[in-house]
Amino acid sequence: MSNNEKLLKKAQKLSIHEKMFQCPICSGAMKVERMASLECENRHCYDISRQGYVNLLNQTPRTKYDKALFEARKKISGSGFFGPMVEAVTSRLIQAMKSRESRKSVRLLDAGCGEGSHLSAILRKLREQRMVPDVLGVGMDIAKEGIVTAAKTSPDPIWCVADLSQSPFADQQFDYILNILSPSNYSEFRRLLTSDGMLVKVIPGSMYLQELRALFYTGTGKETYSNDGTMELFIRHFERIEFDELRYRVILDSNQMKQLIHMTPLSWSISPEVIERMPDGEMEVTADFTLLYGWI
Ligand SMILES: [Zn+2]
Repeated sequence: MSNNEKLLKKAQKLSIHEKMFQCPICSGAMKVERMASLECENRHCYDISRQGYVNLLNQTPRTKYDKALFEARKKISGSGFFGPMVEAVTSRLIQAMKSRESRKSVRLLDAGCGEGSHLSAILRKLREQRMVPDVLGVGMDIAKEGIVTAAKTSPDPIWCVADLSQSPFADQQFDYILNILSPSNYSEFRRLLTSDGMLVKVIPGSMYLQELRALFYTGTGKETYSNDGTMELFIRHFERIEFDELRYRVILDSNQMKQLIHMTPLSWSISPEVIERMPDGEMEVTADFTLLYGWI
């Protein structure tokens, strides 16, 4: 397929789902125009990029999330570090999809999808299942570099550069929202979920990357971490909640360790000399996650 054909296909997919969007400036209804952009009734216009994503930001924020960081995240995802977590999230989605009355199609939003590795892996696994409805995947992130990487790697979902505090979607458009290791906006989650929709939020547990914490933070008072505050905030926003805990260890080689250190915000406040002193060679690291499920 030529690039133009690919782009046309993407625009057609967007136009089938154009009612899902609303203008992030004026909340007006949106339409795909000339197979080239999404435009609202007040003529605010958002182009469909060459790579097939839509940029719905009004201004580009400064962020630490650059291209190198997303490449590092993609490599770490490829190493299998997140595999059991992604598997657990997918199983819970399959269980939820099978227990609801038979619906032909559902929408799944990944809010804060970064370079899209988790959403792509979850969609692949869902499509292998029988008895699961047709799933439209939508990935959004405020970091354009993440979405560019996502759109190049995986053409299947609809990818949007957008701000979660002014998300470009109409009310009650999503049956499932994922929010994996990424900041939340609970009023937006409540607005975007269908009345029986489910939010899946993944947060680090207290032992997440404890080996790096020990190396970077010994003697600073930051060696330990608790997710109690995040959990309390989550509980306050939902009628019904459930949660799972998941802990496992992964051996990473020295190259993968470099990617992991580059990827994690834990290292951002650390001087390069401390990072230089890291032992060379493979290392065993702990993955520890709390998976929170909420219904409004
Ligand atoms: Zn508008």
